[in-house]
Amino acid sequence: LVVSLLVRDANSSITFSMHVVTDQAFVTLATDDVYCQGALVLGQSLRNHTTSRKLAVLITPEVSSGMRSVLRSVFDEVTEVDALDSADSVHLALLQRPELGVTFTKLHCWTLTHYSKCVFMDADTLVSRAGAVVMFVSVLDVFFSNWATADIGKHLPFIYNLSSSAVYTYVPAFNQDTKVVHFLGATKPWNYKYNLQTKRVMQDGTASGSFHQLSFLALWWNIYSASILPLLEKFQKMEESE
Ligand code: UDP
Ligand code: MN
Repeated sequence: LVVSLLVRDANSSITFSMHVVTDQAFVTLATDDVYCQGALVLGQSLRNHTTSRKLAVLITPEVSSGMRSVLRSVFDEVTEVDALDSADSVHLALLQRPELGVTFTKLHCWTLTHYSKCVFMDADTLVSRAGAVVMFVSVLDVFFSNWATADIGKHLPFIYNLSSSAVYTYVPAFNQDTKVVHFLGATKPWNYKYNLQTKRVMQDGTASGSFHQLSFLALWWNIYSASILPLLEKFQKMEESE
């Protein structure tokens, strides 16, 4: 599990405005009910920050009708699109991530032409201003303060991590002080077990989570258990009584 984030450039001055901007949107993608859980947490994290932009989610036909109802209660717009697949199984097998071919579906973001500006965010991201995130950014500053000048061989992981999430540098333009946590990698937050009583993420023997990784996971699970689980249960009950 790798957690990456990008922070607003400290020198940029962006005036925060609270009016609703209806022609700009945060957009995410979920091609099945599992990724929908991530999309819902991302959407809720943006709602928690009272975003002034619209929230849109792209889904493919596989997403269940119950899940669509839940998505509609968090997102302003739920749009069904056809799955686009890179069909590049050879390279994806090399990456050991066969499921990533379908991520090309995010290109449908360009068809949302009723928005003048869209920021695409993976479904495995969330927006946070928690203290733990700020702390993690100190750690980075101290640890990597001389990364540009130091032995490049030592810093490849950091550079790779940064470039792979470079798309998120646009997020700060929408909301001052926003920080994005990206759970990139094969193990997603919803693959972990969470104890609802103790509010702790349960680790199996193989997971070597650092304090920071665990606190980001706990943040994801806090939003999921407090805001998303009740919604899923509500819609499940409604379906059962129909
Ligand atoms: N995605 C999806 N279904 C899949 C795989 C990916 O909807 O089966 C979407 C989802 O929005 C996800 C994004 O494509 O966040 C990119 O994939 P992922 O986050 O798994 O890749 P990583 O960030 O780990 O490279
Ligand atoms: Mn991702």
